[in-house]
Amino acid sequence: MDRSEAFGIYIHIPFCVRKCQYCDFLSAPASEPVQEAYLDALKEEIAGQAPQHVHRKVSSIYIGGGTPSAVPPQALCSVLQTLYTHYNVRSDAEISMEMNPGTVTREGLKQYRQAGINRVSIGLQSAHDRELRLLGRIHSLEDFLRTYEAVRDAGFRNVNVDVMAALPGQSVEDYEDTLRTLLALSPIPEHISAYSLIIEEGTPFFERYGKEKETLEKTGEAQPDLPSEEAERQMDKRTRQMLYKAGYHRYEISNYSLAGYECRHNKGCWRREDYAGFGLGAASLLDNVRSRNCTDLQSYLHKKDKVMERAVLSAEEQMEEFMFLGLRLTKGVDREKFRRCFGVPMEEVYGDVLRENEEKGLLHVGRRVALSSRGRDVANYIMAGFLL
Ligand code: SF4
Repeated sequence: MDRSEAFGIYIHIPFCVRKCQYCDFLSAPASEPVQEAYLDALKEEIAGQAPQHVHRKVSSIYIGGGTPSAVPPQALCSVLQTLYTHYNVRSDAEISMEMNPGTVTREGLKQYRQAGINRVSIGLQSAHDRELRLLGRIHSLEDFLRTYEAVRDAGFRNVNVDVMAALPGQSVEDYEDTLRTLLALSPIPEHISAYSLIIEEGTPFFERYGKEKETLEKTGEAQPDLPSEEAERQMDKRTRQMLYKAGYHRYEISNYSLAGYECRHNKGCWRREDYAGFGLGAASLLDNVRSRNCTDLQSYLHKKDKVMERAVLSAEEQMEEFMFLGLRLTKGVDREKFRRCFGVPMEEVYGDVLRENEEKGLLHVGRRVALSSRGRDVANYIMAGFLL
């Protein structure tokens, strides 16, 4: 790995005001003393790991969660100060922070700006209060609109909004309303992440919708409350149509941006650039070693070595990741880069799967290999073909 290459840092803040009904992220409500103890441990971890990154220049920092805006702004900013003290952060680094409506104040936004945060990601999910309540979100559409205005007033010029499709009881028109609400904002967000709801095991939503869905999937029927596969495809189509028309381009399966506003940090992850993750359960990829911190809060607070899993990736595993992460990007993967990284032409390893999917019209195979628009509809099926 060329040490001058892009290097990202991810910081996990595992606290939320309340757990959403569909959420399986590592996050939970916590008292202020617990949050303080966590942030102390986090700063210790960041400072302690600094010597191994002394040759790297940080090109992106992503503070995710959980809800980073659920901890006091000053405490959050002190984490960034620790980073600035111990790491070589590029002056043009992208520094993103996730926030949720209902947890943000104008004073807090000012502090985030002063601490160098230059990109914010707001979790809206839906513009319908009925859907927000169903999801267990703590905010209303009105809260979002207030937050968005305050974010703009604070001077943020790079803003993402997350929305979600395929919600229980949601029609294609309901989903279009959410997109229309975003496109009526002034100015419109520079970036929109549009994901479909996934019913994850272990969540209240799984109890309600998941089990039955598994049974019904076998017979091909839709679960009564969940949109059908066809409706979900329509929602995806409408996302493309409405956002293209408004000037966005789709640079990743679920991510759209105005020109020049692609998320540098996430792109780095899809391109397998190195990143270090700090905090509870945070993952890292460093010199082809993937590791993950412990997921138990008490262990994280008290253990010196926070790492729970560490795996040196074999050449085959690296190739698999190169393909299935890179194919998420609209531009796809570069065949020449594959040869440079692994010393063999892509077609020598993946000749059959490339040919087969190209013949079916699911992949474009040229200097780069990328999913076709039909291919994007069955992306998971195609990606599975690249497992060696
Ligand atoms: S705000 Fe986000 S991280 Fe927190 S519970 Fe809801 S979905 Fe999960």
